[in-house]
Amino acid sequence: MAKEEADLLIENASELLTIRGGTEKPLLGKSMRDLGVIRDGSVAIRNGRVIAVGKTEKIKEEIESSEIIDASEKVVMPGFVDPHTHLVFAGSREDEFEMRIEGASYMEILRRGGGILKTVRETRRASKEELLESCRKTLDVMLEHGTTTVEAKSGYGLTTKDELKCLEVMKLANEEHPIEIVPTFLGAHAVPAEYKDNPDEYVNLITDEMILKVATRKQAEFCDVFCEKGVFDVEQSRRILLKGKEHGLKPKLHADEMTRLGGAELAAEMQAVSAEHLLFSSDDGLRAMAEQRAVAVLLPGAAFMLMMERYADARRMVELGVPVALGTDYNPSCLVESQQIVISLACLQMRMTPAEAIVAATINAAHAVNRSHDVGSLELGKRADIIVLNAPNHRFLGYRFGVNLVDKVIKDGRLVVDGVGRFKADS
Ligand code: ZN
Repeated sequence: MAKEEADLLIENASELLTIRGGTEKPLLGKSMRDLGVIRDGSVAIRNGRVIAVGKTEKIKEEIESSEIIDASEKVVMPGFVDPHTHLVFAGSREDEFEMRIEGASYMEILRRGGGILKTVRETRRASKEELLESCRKTLDVMLEHGTTTVEAKSGYGLTTKDELKCLEVMKLANEEHPIEIVPTFLGAHAVPAEYKDNPDEYVNLITDEMILKVATRKQAEFCDVFCEKGVFDVEQSRRILLKGKEHGLKPKLHADEMTRLGGAELAAEMQAVSAEHLLFSSDDGLRAMAEQRAVAVLLPGAAFMLMMERYADARRMVELGVPVALGTDYNPSCLVESQQIVISLACLQMRMTPAEAIVAATINAAHAVNRSHDVGSLELGKRADIIVLNAPNHRFLGYRFGVNLVDKVIKDGRLVVDGVGRFKADS
C-alpha cells in the first residue's frame, strides 16, 4: 500500500505533548495535569495543518515525507499562545523600574503623570512606521521564544486617531509577520490627562465614537477595560463593554488587579471571554466565572515586576473549575516576551505544576482569544504551529528558567526559527 505523503514529518520526540481534548471546552481541574504525552512521538504536516500524530514507528508505517526533523531527546509541543499583551507602544520606562525598586508604587507613579500616561505621550508622537518597526522586533523575540499566536491590545493612544493608528499597526504587523495577532481595543486603558477632571466625558468618547469606528473598520475582535480603583469603575466598565458587545466586540476585562472591585463578578455578568490578573477576586466572583466558563488570564510577570506581595490564587481557581490561562502582559512596565519565563513564575509563585502551566499557556490561552479550534494543541486538522524544545521532558519548562529552550519553531507548517536565537528572516 502506498504511503501517504506529508510536507514535513517531525519524528522521535522524547515527549510529544498533544494537549488533546481541550478544543471544545478548556481543560479544567485535574485534566490540566494531562498533557496527552506520546513518548517517541511524531507529528505529520501537510498544507500547514496536522495530518497525523502518534508513535514514530506507527506514523512511519503510514506516512512518508522528504522533509524530516529529528526531535530525538527533545520535547515537541504546540506553539505558545500569549493571550494578553500590550504590543504596540513607543519608548520604555526603565527609569520607573528604578523608582519602583526604591519604593514608589505603580499607582503613585501614574498619579504623577508617569506609567501609562508617559507611554501615551510617546506613542501619540510616534509615526505608524516607527511603531511598526518596534512591533516587528518584539514579535521576532516572541517567535524565537516559541510564541506563535499573540493577543495585542491598543490603549496607548487614547484619542480616536491614535487608537486607530495602533490597531492599524497590529493589522500591518499581522500581515507581514509569521505570528498571528489577535487585536483587542483597549481605549479604556487609562483616563488621558486632558480628561483628568471629567472622566465620564472620556467614557462617552469611547462609547459614542471610538467603538463605532473600530467596529466599522473591523479593527478589533475584543473590547477590554482596565477596571480598577482610580481608573474605570464597575459602572463605567459595564457601559463600555455593553457598547462594545452591541457592535460585535467580545468583552474582556482587566479585573481585581490591585483592589477587590468586583471585576470577576462583572466579567461573569458580561459573559466575558476572559478576565485578567484577578489577584484580589472574591470566591463568589471566581465561582461566577467558572459557571460562565470565562477564562482567568493570569499574568505573574506583572505581579513579579511590580513586586506585589500577592499573586493570583491559581490553586483556588483550578479547584473551583475556572479555566486558567497564562500570558506575559508584555508592556513597558513588564518587558517580557517569553511565555517560558511566565511558566517558571507560575510554577514557583502560584504553585502550578509544569503540566498545568503548559496547558494554561497553550490550549486554555487559545480559548481566551477564541482560537481553540485552530491552535493550542496538536490534533488532526489544527494549524501546524509547533515548537521543538531543547529539553528531555516537559518539566524542563519551569524547572530550567531564564534561558530559551526553543530549538525550532514551525508556524503554519513552515520552519521559521531554526536553532536558538536564529530567526529565519527570509522565510
Ligand atoms: Zn494588561
